[in-house]
Amino acid sequence: MKKTVQLWIVALVVALCSTSLSAKTPKYIFFCIGDGMSFSHVLATQLYYEHGNYKAGNESIAFLDFPVHSAVRTHANNSLITCSAAAATALATGHKTNIDHVGISPDKKPLTSIAKQLRDKGYAIGLVTSGQIDDATPAAFYASQMRKEAYLIGKEGADSQFDFLAGSALKQPYAPSQPSLYDYYRQQGYTICRGIDGYNANRATGKMLLLDTDTASRSWLPYALERKPEAMGLEFMVQAGIDKLYREKGKKGFFMMIEGASIDHASHPDDLATAIFETAEFDRSVRIAYEFYKKHPDETLIIVTADHETGGLTMGETNMRPFYWEYVNYQTLSKESLSDLFRSLKKNGQVDSWEKARKVLADHTGLWTKIPVNAGEEAALMQCYYRTVIQKSKEQEVTLYAQTEPLVAQAIALLDKKIGVAWSSTSHTGGFVPFYAIGCEATRFATVGDNTDIPQTIRKIMKIK
Ligand SMILES: [Zn+2]
Repeated sequence: MKKTVQLWIVALVVALCSTSLSAKTPKYIFFCIGDGMSFSHVLATQLYYEHGNYKAGNESIAFLDFPVHSAVRTHANNSLITCSAAAATALATGHKTNIDHVGISPDKKPLTSIAKQLRDKGYAIGLVTSGQIDDATPAAFYASQMRKEAYLIGKEGADSQFDFLAGSALKQPYAPSQPSLYDYYRQQGYTICRGIDGYNANRATGKMLLLDTDTASRSWLPYALERKPEAMGLEFMVQAGIDKLYREKGKKGFFMMIEGASIDHASHPDDLATAIFETAEFDRSVRIAYEFYKKHPDETLIIVTADHETGGLTMGETNMRPFYWEYVNYQTLSKESLSDLFRSLKKNGQVDSWEKARKVLADHTGLWTKIPVNAGEEAALMQCYYRTVIQKSKEQEVTLYAQTEPLVAQAIALLDKKIGVAWSSTSHTGGFVPFYAIGCEATRFATVGDNTDIPQTIRKIMKIK
């Protein structure tokens, strides 16, 4: 009996030792956030890949094949429906906070992000976004401010001393009696580069702030749907960041946050094709991290999630109708750009008949030419045309980031209805968001159920208190 007990103790010690020996610490961590990316965004993009004659070479969303799947609650401290600031604070620090609070608690005390903790442990840090580098999602990884304090947030970006910061632009580079943020970043040792050529010319330098070439007219990267092929997109920034962080000498490894920011921007105005192309770009960016993982499978962890849902996207419009994912291909401009185009044509008298207006819509949505439009649907569009073009009603569809010509809004809504989807909101919604993980210690994330669990789990596996 005594011998049996001894054997059990030996077995227990061996088991405990082997558990601690097998618990590894990832050397490379990718934290990928689709801003506004609901389960439905992921599914719509996957269905478009499968049934929409997608030409970009992907057959399946890469992260759908990751072995760990979960669903994550996103509520803020003071609201079921969160915003990017409160959600990013939860994802970056592991603490719930109030709407519009960036890296601070509800009583405005600074919270510490996992990125700063990993920096202090000797890891190289990169933040990459298709939006502004000092907007809420990246900002929560380095700043402690109210969201409206854009200049101060931008300043904290430079103070972070993170190795690689890449995004479309700085949100508010100037403030009265203060140095420009461009000067401030340079003072803090950053090289500021713009676009692909700017990066390539400066890739060997130290800390880098990489921005888009032309951010005067719009503050985020052009949408993937309508971006020129030679222009910088999220994929380039991710690859550039990996190349740069991997070369950092004397670091223990790296942590990179990747944000698909424009999924949210496209979903506020309920623009399905644009949102799908943004989700596809996010997928291709995660795929770059996945390629890195395949070269370093024992040392790399990739996690993919969202901060919240945007738009209340629903698979199925009404009455069990079939889906027509190929119709996504016929939209050639985002709803915002088509609205800008229509507004200028209206101003110049170039849509002074219904036939001319209809041709503009048909050229950019495929309605009439490739997608049948019945008499009742056309009559509703014509009514809108007479009210807003002929009778010069000043009405606009107003959503968070855009003011849209009503006729364009109605045409895109008709297109989305014909594809087969519906939207319930032009804001964020409060549902679960998806979570996926692969790589070193990924199984430790199998039970995450709340957005705050994610950084807390990273802390556990990285042995951060
Ligand atoms: Zn949003």
